[in-house]
Amino acid sequence: MAQQQTAKYVYDFEEGNKDLKDLLGGKGANLAEMTNLGLPVPPGFTITTEACRAYLADGTEPDGLADEVGEHLRALEAKMGKRLGDSEDPLLVSVRSGAKFSMPGMMETVLNVGLTDASVHGLANQAGGNERFAWDSYRRLIQMFGKTVCEVPGEAFESALEAAKRAKNTHNDLDLDGNDLRALVDEYKKIFSQHTGRDFPQDPREQLDLAVHAVFDSWNADRAVLYRRQERIPADLGTAVNVVAMVFGNLGADSGTGVAFTRDPATGEQGVYGDYLANAQGEDVVAGIRNTVPLQELERIDKASFEQLIQIMATLEGHYQDLCDIEFTIERGKLWMLQTRVGKRTAAAAFVIATQLVDEGVIDLDEALNRVNGAQLAQLMFPTFATDGDHKPVARGVAASPGAAVGKAVFDSHYAAELGEQGEKVILVRRETNPDDLPGMIAAQGVLTSRGGKTSHAAVVARGMGKTCVCGAEALEVDLEGRKFTVNGQTISEGDVISIDGTSGKIYLGEVPVQDSPVVRYFEGETGPESDPLVSAVHRIITHADSVRRLGVWTNADTGEDAARARRFGAQGIGLCRTEHMFLGDRRELVERLILAETEADRQAALDALLPLQRADFLEIFRAMKGQPVVVRLIDPPLHEFLPGLEDLAAKVAVAEALHKDPGKDGVMLVAVRRMHEQNPMLGLRGVRLGLVIPGLFAMQIRAIAEAAAQCRQEGCDPRPEIMVPLVGAVQELETVRAEAEKVLRDVFDKAGVEVPVMIGTMIELPRAALNAGQIAQAAEFFSFGTNDLTQMTWGFSRDDVEAAFFSRYLELGIFGVSPFESIDRDGVGRLVQIAVKEGRAARPDLQLGVCGEHGGDPDSVHFFHEAGLDYVSCSPFRVPVARLEAGRAAVASGGSDSR
Ligand code: PEP
Ligand code: MG
Repeated sequence: MAQQQTAKYVYDFEEGNKDLKDLLGGKGANLAEMTNLGLPVPPGFTITTEACRAYLADGTEPDGLADEVGEHLRALEAKMGKRLGDSEDPLLVSVRSGAKFSMPGMMETVLNVGLTDASVHGLANQAGGNERFAWDSYRRLIQMFGKTVCEVPGEAFESALEAAKRAKNTHNDLDLDGNDLRALVDEYKKIFSQHTGRDFPQDPREQLDLAVHAVFDSWNADRAVLYRRQERIPADLGTAVNVVAMVFGNLGADSGTGVAFTRDPATGEQGVYGDYLANAQGEDVVAGIRNTVPLQELERIDKASFEQLIQIMATLEGHYQDLCDIEFTIERGKLWMLQTRVGKRTAAAAFVIATQLVDEGVIDLDEALNRVNGAQLAQLMFPTFATDGDHKPVARGVAASPGAAVGKAVFDSHYAAELGEQGEKVILVRRETNPDDLPGMIAAQGVLTSRGGKTSHAAVVARGMGKTCVCGAEALEVDLEGRKFTVNGQTISEGDVISIDGTSGKIYLGEVPVQDSPVVRYFEGETGPESDPLVSAVHRIITHADSVRRLGVWTNADTGEDAARARRFGAQGIGLCRTEHMFLGDRRELVERLILAETEADRQAALDALLPLQRADFLEIFRAMKGQPVVVRLIDPPLHEFLPGLEDLAAKVAVAEALHKDPGKDGVMLVAVRRMHEQNPMLGLRGVRLGLVIPGLFAMQIRAIAEAAAQCRQEGCDPRPEIMVPLVGAVQELETVRAEAEKVLRDVFDKAGVEVPVMIGTMIELPRAALNAGQIAQAAEFFSFGTNDLTQMTWGFSRDDVEAAFFSRYLELGIFGVSPFESIDRDGVGRLVQIAVKEGRAARPDLQLGVCGEHGGDPDSVHFFHEAGLDYVSCSPFRVPVARLEAGRAAVASGGSDSR
């Protein structure tokens, strides 16, 4: 009869390699790799993540695991010439967790497994009669085992240790001698039995098995679960367990332990960096009990080990072709490698190291591109607080637009603009912002709101301007009338200085020092690439990204100034010019006239007055973007946003009436505001609907675009306007606007005697539009995905409200790992995009496809849009370099091919 093949759950280090991280975890795979490189790794074996998953699923060890562990343990004993827990010469092992992705400190470790009342004497003898060392090791085992395996509260052991030190009149563990520690072990054993109802296990194999189970279980410890959610590590991977022969760094002055990096992980500078602690175990380094010395000191303490270590680090870097971090122990002059991995590094170091490795001939530029990412580049582009070590945040909001901003708290936009003009640095503080706050936002160093999420007005506009913004800081009670806010019992009045960190969402009282980004100065053309090593690295990598990417990178901009900056940052066009931003300020009055118009003539007069203003707006942008496409979106938001608030106005009129005064213009306005009021403005009269309801509105905008283009052409520049219709759900809507647009364009160009090709297309931002893309493409020369609205409409999430309202709970529950407004929801919104791409292109093969929602500048989403076969992404000017980099990375990841 054929024997049923059971899974292999245990691998000796000689059997694994670095590519088996899924099965052996990062630590196990790398220990195996080092073993096979012939480096001095203490022998051991790894129990697989598969065993962990089986254990967690059934609540018990899978069949065959115990026997396999037994076999590998015997092999380990044979290698070491010792038996686990032997009373004469015990083998001791460490039992360490190690998942596929590093989860530092989140799971459990038990050291010195195998020590018992009998073997502790053997250990002392083998350590040359070092009783202190043996009893100290034993008390560490009982403490760790008690805590992690049997859930004995750690404080119980700690207070016993404190009491022992008190009795000796010392604060230092090292002052406890062998006898003290032996007495402490007795005390620890009592604590153990009190809490567990059993004696401390004296069977070494039982210790080992229970420790392995505890490591498996620690995969689901609260802190591990939380960490995985934050880091977006899948919950079902499980951890491997490494059982490794113990080596001791605490056997005297010729022993010690340390950590090291093959390059500086902070700056990328070449050279060896690390810390060493003599006469200590690894946990002492982490606990920071004693001060470490720089690794270079080891040369003086133990030259042979130091030289061997340097040699090994060079081997590891050459082998992994990257910065490695390592942990090592020296036991009586013999060096042991306990861990290595490709080391974490700062954003700046990532760029510098990647180009260094190119120069060293270790990797090519494609691989360099692969080793950095857009999130790192974004981090390098924002000013930062030079230090916040001395400053404690008073509250935290949504980190909406990165950067560090300091200024006086100001509660209204006019005043902010006024102070800004006088050269004062201000932070605009509002409950939420609206288009009226624009002047204040422009003048401010940063924006702080107590309501709204990452797609709130404040967040979107601030990101567009590259301005720091923290929003939805609900702990702040903003009193606009009183011009102050209170937070945790403290009151901040207008003029008090505050500091906000848009990268972390932290809010500080007072001034925290800020430093500018050299990378932005480079993109702005203020410094050359050779100005410093970081800038030079960024320059080389982004230049390479440009040479390999297929996706175009355009920008969202609605002023000439933004357009010009975006061009400096590398934008190849404007993918979204939001024209409603041009209806603010002085023009508000004209919009009011348009809305309140009672006759055809009144309305036309208002439109005629707006026309030259709009024409000038477009001319400025066409000039700035000469030769590059400019997608002008016809007005989108509901017109009532341009009118005063209903409640304020009703109150004013009521007061006037109560005083028997004529409410005058307010009365007329109130009627209009009531007429236009909507319960759900996001689902109401906006976008194309507005254009079809207010006669002449779109025609005026189209005329302004055409006239500006004609003038630009006559000036000899090369305008490339595209007209985009928002919020289309049915092809008939688009056909109606198109027919009107074509007429106006014909009229203008005939009159001007020029011909400017103008594409007419639509946003795809309603699920219905995506599902009817084939039909809509009949009337559209291009699609631009408005993923902000498409996300809102697909999930049914109000984009202004939900992030602050309940997203934190959703994130906590793992319903999504990141807000779908930030990173494209591939399974829902993404599928709509794919459908629209497929059906749109089938109907019109040369259909131009882009995206202009906030996702256009999100690294993960850029990869999705590359895979979906779009032609370009469009994002705010400050995200342009990030999108260029990620588009390059996406091309490299897909083999540089056009995946359409
Ligand atoms: C969108 O909805 O994604 C979009 C770009 O339009 P807006 O954000 O202006 O609604
Ligand atoms: Mg939209």
